Amino acid sequence: MPRRLHIQTVGCQMNVLDSELVAAELLAAGYELVESPRRADTILFNTCSVRQHAEDKIYSALGRLKHVKQQQPQKIIGVLGCMAQKDQEKIFRRAPHVDLVVGPGQLGQLPGLLERIAAGEGPRMEVSLDRSSGSRASVRRSYQPHDPLRVVEARSVPHQAMVRVMFGCDKFCTYCVVPSVRGPEQSRPAAEIEAEVRCLAGQGCLEVTLLGQTVNSYRDESGGGVVGLAELLYRLNEVEGLRRLKFVTNHPQHVTRELIEAVRDLPKVSPYLHVPAQSGSNRILRRMKRGYTAEEYREMLAEIRSEIPEAAVTSDFIVGFPGETHEDYRQTVELVRQGRFKNCFIFKYSPRPKTKAAELYADDVPEEVKRRRNNELLAVQNAISLQDNQPLVGRRVEILVEGPSKLGRKQPPGGDVVQLVGRTVCDRIVVFEGPRHLAGQLLPISVQRADAVTLFGKPT
Ligand code: SAM
Ligand code: SF4
Repeated sequence: MPRRLHIQTVGCQMNVLDSELVAAELLAAGYELVESPRRADTILFNTCSVRQHAEDKIYSALGRLKHVKQQQPQKIIGVLGCMAQKDQEKIFRRAPHVDLVVGPGQLGQLPGLLERIAAGEGPRMEVSLDRSSGSRASVRRSYQPHDPLRVVEARSVPHQAMVRVMFGCDKFCTYCVVPSVRGPEQSRPAAEIEAEVRCLAGQGCLEVTLLGQTVNSYRDESGGGVVGLAELLYRLNEVEGLRRLKFVTNHPQHVTRELIEAVRDLPKVSPYLHVPAQSGSNRILRRMKRGYTAEEYREMLAEIRSEIPEAAVTSDFIVGFPGETHEDYRQTVELVRQGRFKNCFIFKYSPRPKTKAAELYADDVPEEVKRRRNNELLAVQNAISLQDNQPLVGRRVEILVEGPSKLGRKQPPGGDVVQLVGRTVCDRIVVFEGPRHLAGQLLPISVQRADAVTLFGKPT
């Protein structure tokens, strides 16, 4: 009897990729993936620590499993990822029915750990060293990048894949927990990435998204010379069968002329850049330790716009960072107005333990003010997105069909025609009615209607 595995993932694309890689390894070890946690005998949560809310959700989900574990003690419950690294034994204290805690730098150990638990050896924990608890080399070694061979069955969308190009982060933005839970920045050798992308293209994958916390600081020195992201894009552009290449997340400091030219000149590279600004106020940017000013961010945007006029640029902003006055916030609104982003992710500041901001500054912007700024900024961005989407009505766009939309997934399984969803090369979401078998195809769609986040159309 294969063991039945259910993985629940929260957080960023890096976590989605980690879950896929974990699933691939466990499938190879004889596990079977199941949709429902009730049918599973191993339940894994791949967790996020970026904001308090993400952690609260996991602790409540764990709480709900307490009785299940009492009734079925052989069921294995595991916590993986960033919260596992951050909270460590605290997870066993808060949820004593948890069997397994594994940090993101130790995921390669998972099959062995599950075996030992199943053999009755009791709860297990594998985490990496604290960043301040050893030499840089020993800390680095304790974060073991884990990128096993890719398996189609482990991906929810077989013709789209993410590929890790780097692990960790060395920026230490003062609000952010990522450097302490994902460890030091480490770039994978370019040759290894190329081999993985070729393997994916061989499996029929048309679109690859390269992942790194600061993907554009990618720097591989393993082959003697230095390979940066632009050079890597040139190499991957040659991979036969691959049609689209994207990369996230960019740090504004590393958006070089060379990178902009690579995006402009390489036919497979999508004219789409996610470059979080975080704030439009220099005072707040300094407090965040972002390493650039609002003026420098604007100059970078202007360069992208002049070289790649069709480019879609997206951003992240944090509102309510400690000390953010109305004037600071107004400068952020100004940057969002002028930036004309395709879309923005807007977050309310959440103090994170062991970060500089939490140590140095009181969380002094009231929750209600954070909420109001969040909603207002979102409204400003939505009005821009709507304006910028309108000219696409009546035009033809090419999309890569991902499969049934959220609505389509709820439509009766018998019917062949459902609502499908796909994305343009600039990452715009398009929904349309069509037969399920269109999933995985590049398809021209004529756009009939648009709102701020979605284009609606029909195949031409
Ligand atoms: N490395 C990426 C970057 O630099 O943009 C992504 C890091 S994080 C997973 C994604 C976003 O979460 C950040 O861009 C930031 O806007 C937001 N974020 C990070 N820490 C936060 C915090 N303590 N409170 C609120 N938002 C936060
Ligand atoms: Fe966090 Fe800053 Fe690193 Fe992004 S660049 S992961 S926001 S520390």
